[in-house]
Order: sequence, then C-alpha cells, then structure tokens
Amino acid sequence: MLKTILVAADGSEHAKKAAQLAGDLAARYDAELVIAHVLVNRRIPEPLRRMAEIEHLVEPEPPKSLGPGILSTTSENDLDAKIIAALGDKIMGDAELLARDAGARKVRRMALTGEPAEALLEEAKRVGADLIVMGTRGLGDLGALLLGSVSHKVIQLADCPVTVVK
Ligand code: ATP
Ligand code: MG
Repeated sequence: MLKTILVAADGSEHAKKAAQLAGDLAARYDAELVIAHVLVNRRIPEPLRRMAEIEHLVEPEPPKSLGPGILSTTSENDLDAKIIAALGDKIMGDAELLARDAGARKVRRMALTGEPAEALLEEAKRVGADLIVMGTRGLGDLGALLLGSVSHKVIQLADCPVTVVK
C-alpha cells in the first residue's frame, strides 16, 4: 500500500525519530524513502562561518582573476550558501543513516529551497508520496507549542496521510 514515503529532516530530535519510523515503515512496505530537507536561507553568524572553514565543511575559494588586475573573492553570501548546503548534506546524511539502520533499502535525498512547508508539499506531490513522516516540532524553540508551524501547515494542506512523531 505504501510505495513512496517522504520524511522531512531538519536535524531536530523529533525529525530524527521521524527518520527512524519512516525507515522502519519503508522496510516493512518495501517502499522507497525520500529524505527531504529545505535549505533555509539565512545569514550565517561570523563565528559559525569561520568554524565551517576551519572544520573544512566548506573550502574558501582562491580569488579568481576576472581580467588584468581584477580579482574576485567568494562573497559572504556565496559562503553562507555553501555552509547552508553543507549543513543540509549533513542533516540528510544523518537521517539516512538512521533510516537505513531501521531497515530502509531504497533511499533518496532531496535538497529543496523555498518556504519549508510549501517545498515539502510540492515535493511530496512530485514524487507521489503515499505518506509524509515528520516531527511534531523542529529546531524552533517555542517549547510550549505542541506543533511547529511547518508540521501544522503540512498536516492541513497535504493530499496524503501525514504521521507526526513526538
Ligand atoms: P517553528 O519552525 O514554527 O518555529 P519548530 O521548528 O519547532 O517550530 P517545525 O519547523 O514545524 O517546528 O518542525 C516540525 C517538523 O517539520 C520537523 O521535525 C521536520 O520534520 C519538519 N521540518 C521543519 N523544518 C524543515 C526543513 N527546513 N526541512 C525539512 N523538514 C523540516
Ligand atoms: Mg522549524
């Protein structure tokens, strides 16, 4: 009955539990598991940017020559985008390990952009997901709320069943 399962990964503890459950379900149904992460554009604080360089998460590019006497260096925006992409890879890689440990065999990763709930809904439609699995909460710190805004919107607007994991 379940052929394609989409799990939403944002690196939070809830999302990690979602990856484990989704991996287990994918194994039992022999379904394909799509791990989706929406890259959230934001300014990376300077210390984190330096840390990412030191940890070799991103390589600072050598200045490029654009012509005689004109050098272009990687702008802070480019560097931020690279750090966001590297963090996304790490988040999806961690989720994939958990899902495979739980038994999933056919796993794909998708890095998405845009407003998180809308990007997840669109991807679920595109891959023909029969089920979306996600955390009740994510990395936001509004501890009093039961549901985060992304899970709230996905539950409201999804065309397929949604399982939220506490
Ligand atoms: P809010 O973002 O509204 O402050 P929150 O961070 O606690 O609250 P949500 O963002 O709704 O809660 O997170 C709920 C679930 O939605 C997460 O466990 C994860 O499965 C999914 N999710 C949230 N953000 C993303 C993202 N950028 N990419 C992929 N999945 C996400
Ligand atoms: Mg959030």
